[in-house]
Amino acid sequence: MSNKGKLFVVGFGPGDFKHITARAVEALQESDFIIGYKTYVELIQDLLTSQTIISTGMTEEVSRAQEAVKQAENGKKVAVISSGDSGVYGMAGLVYEVLIEKGWKEETGVEIEIIPGISAINSCASLIGAPVMHDSCTISLSDHLTPWELIAKRVEAAAQADFVIALYNPRSGRRTRQIVETQKILLKYRSPETPVGLVKSAYRERQHIVMTNLADMLNHEIGMLTTVIIGNSSTFMYDNKMITPRGYQRKYTLSAEKQPLRPHQRLKKEAEPWALDQERGVEESAHAESAVALLTKEPEKKSDSYDVAMEALARVSGKHSQPSIGTVQQPTESIFELAVSPGVANKKFTPDQMMTLAQVTGEKGTMEYTPDHQIVLRIPTSEPQYITERLEKAGFLLSPTGRVVTLKACDFCDGEKAESIPYAEELQRTLGGMEMPKELNIGFNGCGMACYMAVMNDIGIVFRRGKFDLFLGAKPVGRTAHPGQPVAEGMDPEQLVEVITAIVEEYRQNAHPNERLFKYFKRAKQLHGYRYQDIAPKIKIEPAPCED
Ligand code: SAH
Repeated sequence: MSNKGKLFVVGFGPGDFKHITARAVEALQESDFIIGYKTYVELIQDLLTSQTIISTGMTEEVSRAQEAVKQAENGKKVAVISSGDSGVYGMAGLVYEVLIEKGWKEETGVEIEIIPGISAINSCASLIGAPVMHDSCTISLSDHLTPWELIAKRVEAAAQADFVIALYNPRSGRRTRQIVETQKILLKYRSPETPVGLVKSAYRERQHIVMTNLADMLNHEIGMLTTVIIGNSSTFMYDNKMITPRGYQRKYTLSAEKQPLRPHQRLKKEAEPWALDQERGVEESAHAESAVALLTKEPEKKSDSYDVAMEALARVSGKHSQPSIGTVQQPTESIFELAVSPGVANKKFTPDQMMTLAQVTGEKGTMEYTPDHQIVLRIPTSEPQYITERLEKAGFLLSPTGRVVTLKACDFCDGEKAESIPYAEELQRTLGGMEMPKELNIGFNGCGMACYMAVMNDIGIVFRRGKFDLFLGAKPVGRTAHPGQPVAEGMDPEQLVEVITAIVEEYRQNAHPNERLFKYFKRAKQLHGYRYQDIAPKIKIEPAPCED
């Protein structure tokens, strides 16, 4: 036996040359023999030069592996090829099995190298969004070598455990029932609306993609070259893409362009998987019906939606000896994060507001008092709109958190210097909550004392003698903190909102992600025509490690 022989087991990826690894190409070109299923050999033919090709039919895997081992033992370099990854329903295992049969050991036996490739679950996922972001599994529906009973059991387990599922070998000319049975099993645990992507011949000439859902998937062509990707209970469809959020403890915040107080529609979709499977749930169980009623009709009786949900779940489950996963979808909660304050100018909480805060936050949420005159709430919930409704009813001003515009007004001497309050309110309405490259605070003070430190904000506005003074580009924190530069004095009040909006818009459109306004101002040298003045300190200050 010659030692020079070598076995490569090569996964060549989905099928185009851009998605094959460099190592796979090297191995193919180094080899004397290429062994594989003929369709696959045809796919990579243009990469080959003088190699001898041994192509066989689809069901001849064992003879392919045996031939490969024999040639390698004769001192040849042999590449056994699989599409995708050779270790995923590919040839790698079979080659090892043949070797083991012969008593092969790594030390003494023929050399083997398995070359990884992009498997269909990855290539197909990449074409339909980001469906495989969370725990996932692949299941082959081919019962050619595996008993159907076992396959069905795995489908059931994966469905129950809420895995994202990639179905390989979903259907062939002869095997047509498997996918029908699989859909039936999945529908026991997942909503009919669960997003499903059908990807045929990914990255090949005849690539074809259909975005559908669990109820509708069988109304489309599914064949041997299709991979079926089924979302988990959190997966949602957005602009014809399937997205699975990264974690179950997802975070939603009030997200907003111009109107931060309309979270309902945006949040509803993602919160959906939490819902009872109403159609079947109601039919099958009186307990389920009362649970639905509890969830949909009486939330205001409870202080915390999570408790309502849990009670509903318990009622439904009560009828069964085991938790009834079949009738109820997973209560996928997320952390809902938002900021509240009593108002733009108002800094006083009422006892009723404090009580509402405590109630909606519940035992599982947190309230954080921030330097921005706001309390940030983080509440695990599946019903963010219920929380926003309660808070709005209590008279709170709600804002999103993070990289958004926050208006920080003073209290206008307890409302005594009220003249400019309408301008502050209009700015809040127009810009409050708008998404930005970086957090953007607008300080708004109602008199020249500016005791709420407007000039220390990204944009500082000070009302004085019926006019506005404007400051731009403060660096509010760090050892190199500095106030904003005075750029306009005595601005006519009627211009204010327009000018600030233009500044914010210019910054939003042109700043780099994460570039705070002072940095942008310095880099751009001007903002809305206001020129940047270099105000570098005379003594050089070393940047501190925590500085942004
Ligand atoms: N080793 C391969 C899988 C072989 S099983 C891999 O890792 O991808 C064959 C099944 O793989 C097909 O029935 C189909 O479900 C899937 N498949 C392989 N290549 C594919 C492609 N380019 N597009 C879509 N599905 C593909």
